[in-house]
Amino acid sequence: MNAAQTRAVKAHPNHYDAIVVGAGVAGLYTLYHLRAAGKKVICLEAGGGVAGTWYWNRYPGARVDSQAYIYQYFFSQEVLNEWDWGELFPAQPETERYLNFVTDKCDLRKDIRFNTHVDSAVYDEATQTWQIATANGERYETKYFVGCVGMLSAALKDPCPGREHFKGLVCHTSAWPHAPVDFTGKRVGVVGTGATGIQVIQTVAPLCRHLTVFQRTPQYSIPMRNPKLTAEDNAAYRRNAEAMRKRVRETFAGFHTDLQTGNYWDRPPEERNKFLEQMWAEGSLCFVAANYAEVFIDEKVNAEVTAFVTGKMRKRINNPELEAKLIPTTYGFGTRRVPLDTGYLETYHRDNVDLVDVSTDSVAQITENGLRLASGREYPLDILVFATGFDGGSGAFTRIDIRGRDGQTLKDYWDKDLRTTLGLQVHGFPNFFTTGAPLAPSAAFCNMQTCLCQQADWIIDTIKYLDDHGLHSIEPTAEYEAAWVAQHDAIANSTLFPRTKSWYMGTNVDGKTRRLVTYLGGDVAYQQACNEAKESGYQGFVLT
Ligand code: NAP
Repeated sequence: MNAAQTRAVKAHPNHYDAIVVGAGVAGLYTLYHLRAAGKKVICLEAGGGVAGTWYWNRYPGARVDSQAYIYQYFFSQEVLNEWDWGELFPAQPETERYLNFVTDKCDLRKDIRFNTHVDSAVYDEATQTWQIATANGERYETKYFVGCVGMLSAALKDPCPGREHFKGLVCHTSAWPHAPVDFTGKRVGVVGTGATGIQVIQTVAPLCRHLTVFQRTPQYSIPMRNPKLTAEDNAAYRRNAEAMRKRVRETFAGFHTDLQTGNYWDRPPEERNKFLEQMWAEGSLCFVAANYAEVFIDEKVNAEVTAFVTGKMRKRINNPELEAKLIPTTYGFGTRRVPLDTGYLETYHRDNVDLVDVSTDSVAQITENGLRLASGREYPLDILVFATGFDGGSGAFTRIDIRGRDGQTLKDYWDKDLRTTLGLQVHGFPNFFTTGAPLAPSAAFCNMQTCLCQQADWIIDTIKYLDDHGLHSIEPTAEYEAAWVAQHDAIANSTLFPRTKSWYMGTNVDGKTRRLVTYLGGDVAYQQACNEAKESGYQGFVLT
C-alpha cells in the first residue's frame, strides 16, 4: 500500500479492499473467493435478496435453459452434497432457492448490503481508490471495484408512452411483482417474443381469459425436454461433479457437450439428417452448442439446418396462416438466441390466444384501457406485460455513473465505441473489473455459469497477484485493448451473427454502438487468452 492509500484507509470508515456490485451468480462467487483469500470485501446489491437475474425475473414461466448439473457451482463440496435439483431445467423459484442456499451455506449474507443501488463510482487518482456512492446516500471506498451487475439486467422498459394512464397492471418481466399476479378472468397482453416472452406466453395462456401476443419478429424455438429429477439422478450428478467441473471448461460454449469436429458436408444427407434428429431429440441447447460450427458460419449449412428446424416447427403449428406468422424468414437459425419452449407454438391453437403482428403497425400508446397501435387499433387489456428485453452487456454498467482516469465516463467511452480488454477490464479505468461485459463469452453463446465463474477466477487471481506483489493498480494499455477488439471483430465478422438484428448486436437499443457483445472464439480460446495475460506477468497491462 502506498502512502496515499494508507491515508485513505485511515480516513474512510467504509474502506474495503474490494467492493463487488451485484449478488447474482458471478457476484456471490467473487465475494466468496475474495473473502476466502483474506480480502476485506463487501457486496452491494440493489435488490432485496440474492440471485440477480433469478431475483428480478420472477415472471410466470421463468426457467433456466442450461441443465441444472452445469448451471450449478462446483466450488463447494458441501453445497454439491446437500443440494438436490428437482428438474433438469429448473424454474425461477428453484434457482432462486438454490442461490439462497449457497449464500447461507457459505455465510455470505453478512457481507452483502441489500437494497443498496450504486449510483456512481469515481476513480480517485491521488489515492488510487474508487469512491462509490449509493442511492441511499452511503459512501464507500475501495481499491478494487468489481462490477458483477448482470449481462441482461438493464431492462428496456416501456416501448411506448402512457403507462401512467393504464388502469390495469403493467410491468416489465424483469421487474415482476413479488406478490403473485392473478390472471384468472383477465385480458392479458404480452409485447415481445424473445426467450422471455415465449416463457410468459406459454405459461399465462391457460391461466387467463384472453391473451393477445404482440409480435414484431418471430423466433426459432426448440421444444425443451425437462424431466423431473430423482434421488438417483442427483446422486449421479454428485458422483460426476468433479469430471463435469473440468468438462465445462473444455468446451466451446461452456456446456458438457461440444461443437462437432469435422466438416458438415462430409456426412451424406441421410447421416446429416440423422444427426440433426438426434440433437433435436435432446430437447436442449445442445442443438446449438453441440452442432457444427459451420451452422453459424456457412450460409448453406445454416440454410439446411434452418430448413430442418422450420420443418419441425411446421409440424407443430400445422396451420398455414399461423405458420406464415410464426416461422422466421428474415434471419437464419441460431443467429439470435434460440429459446427452449414448452408448448409455445401449440399455445396459438388455443381459442383464447391471438397473435398480432406489430412489425409494420407498431405499438404506439398505452391507453387507459389497453394498448394502441400506430394504426389506431386498440386492444383492451387488464394486464400488460413487456417482455421487451435488455440493453445487453453494457447497459447495466453505463446506467451507473462510472468515471475512470481524467474524469472519463464509461458511458462516453462506450458510446464512442464498445470496447473492453477480454471483457474483464477497460482502458482508462484502473482496478475496475467486469463480468458479463461486452467482448467476453456470454449468454449469447455460453452456459452463463461457466463463463461467469471463469471470468471471476481471472479477476480474483489478478487481485491476489497485485496484492501479493505489493502493486497498487492494473489497467490494460490502449494497444492491448485495440488488439483484443480487432481479434474479437475478426471472429465475429467471419460468422453470420452480425447480419441479424438482435440484442447480440445491440440493434435493439437506439444509438448503441453496433458490435457483437459476446466473444465467439469459444471458451477454451478465451481462457487461453486470459491465462496468457496472467502467465506473462500481465503483458499488455500497466501495473503500478
Ligand atoms: P429479447 O430476446 O431481446 O426479446 C425482446 C422481444 O421484445 C423481441 O421479440 C423484440 O422484438 C420485442 N420488442 C422489443 N421492443 C419492442 C417494441 N417496441 N415493439 C414490439 N416488440 C418489441 O429479450 P428477452 O426475451 O428478455 O431475452 C433476452 C435474453 O435473456 C435471451 O436472449 C437469453 O439470453 C436470456 N434469457 C434466458 C432465459 C433462460 O435462460 N431460460 C430466459 C429468458 C431470457 P424484435 O425481435 O423485433 O426486436
